Amino acid sequence: MTHHLDGPVAIIGGGIGGLTAALSLQHFGVPVRVFEQARALREIGAGVTITPNAMSALDFLGIGPVLAEQAGETPRYFVRSADDGRELERGPDPDSFMPEFGASYRNLHRADLHAALTDAVTKNDPDAIALDHRFDYLEQDGDQVVAHFSNRATFAAPALIGADGGASAVRNAVFGGQDASYTGHVALRALVPITRVPPAIIADPYALYVGAGRSLIHYPLRHQTTMNLLGNAQASQWQAEGWSIPATVREFLGLFDDFPEPVRELIAAIPETDLFKWGLRDREPLPVWTRGRVTMLGDAAHPMTPYLGQGACMAIEDGMVLGRAFAASQDLAEAFSRYEAARRDRANGVQLAARFQGTQHHGSTASGPNSGKTAVTLGLFSYNPVSEPI
Ligand SMILES: Cc1cc2nc3c(=O)[nH]c(=O)nc-3n(C[C@H](O)[C@H](O)[C@H](O)COP(=O)(O)OP(=O)(O)OC[C@H]3O[C@@H](n4cnc5c(N)ncnc54)[C@H](O)[C@@H]3O)c2cc1C
Repeated sequence: MTHHLDGPVAIIGGGIGGLTAALSLQHFGVPVRVFEQARALREIGAGVTITPNAMSALDFLGIGPVLAEQAGETPRYFVRSADDGRELERGPDPDSFMPEFGASYRNLHRADLHAALTDAVTKNDPDAIALDHRFDYLEQDGDQVVAHFSNRATFAAPALIGADGGASAVRNAVFGGQDASYTGHVALRALVPITRVPPAIIADPYALYVGAGRSLIHYPLRHQTTMNLLGNAQASQWQAEGWSIPATVREFLGLFDDFPEPVRELIAAIPETDLFKWGLRDREPLPVWTRGRVTMLGDAAHPMTPYLGQGACMAIEDGMVLGRAFAASQDLAEAFSRYEAARRDRANGVQLAARFQGTQHHGSTASGPNSGKTAVTLGLFSYNPVSEPI
């Protein structure tokens, strides 16, 4: 930005989106301060698929090699019928991603991705991340935006980015509260050490099973030493919000008791300390992301159901483009306007596509499973946040 900014940009939320935005802004010479409510930086124990569209940003920002080293090879994925395990669809050859899209497809442990981002951001600036700062509210005028935190600290900045996830307090403060509706589906997630995984699953490690009202995906992490497992099923009601409510193997098995035997064996092998559930909630896309000196990013702007596996990828794309928008602009208004114009239709569109995909999976019947579309068949990988016009 040719116009000098008066102090670091404030980023609320040190998740995947906030940290990617921090790294991208730093890359383009914009100082940042990330405020995270947690007392320690950590991520939940779960896998995350980072597809070439987002991986190209992580490569550009310099953390691709460390992620590749931690992840190992990505196997080819198969979509299978939950009735009898037959193949409904197969994913592309994993070796085709680099030649076709210029980046890889990686299944990562969330903690590895989070740690790589944190290390890179703090290497650029050891004071970039402030923990134990829970954002409460903000005030803004023509000169600055002031964030107030529940520890009574305040921070005045020229700009503020709301990257505080699906239940965003920044979004509530700036755009008013937005009710989340329960989708009628519950999700269960687990990590299983490879020594406990049935041989039939090891031989077919990356599969999505679709059946009546349910779907289940598993894929290996960290050089095939751990199997990540995510199941979605209908459940009539749900109260709590949050990704870490303990669940039991019995409960998981009860929901998937007619799935093929290797899948049931895999569920039975889950260590219960590593099994969690949450109710899937949906919010409407934000029609406008920016107000004055504040803009939104990641789940805070476009929280999405997990049916396309693109929530983190969209947050990474947002973060990458935000840095580029600052670099290309004369002033803050231009930067936010370029950012929102480049990102809103893409991210909100993927949010709506993920919602639709959920109805396809769960619309499957006993007589005919419906795999619907995937991020591949929707063509989502051909977007490159490093080079898209902004
Ligand atoms: C089990 C699971 C599997 C998933 N799998 C995939 C996948 O395979 N691929 C994919 O692309 N996406 C996946 N997603 C979606 C993806 O995880 C999210 O879209 C992504 O984490 C969004 O990143 P974010 O940074 O916007 O928000 P978050 O990850 O929610 O981070 C928000 C951060 O803000 C902090 N915060 C919240 N409120 C405040 C406050 N008031 N003050 C300060 N800090 C605050 C939080 O502590 C958190 O650190 C999955 C989600 C789940 C739950």
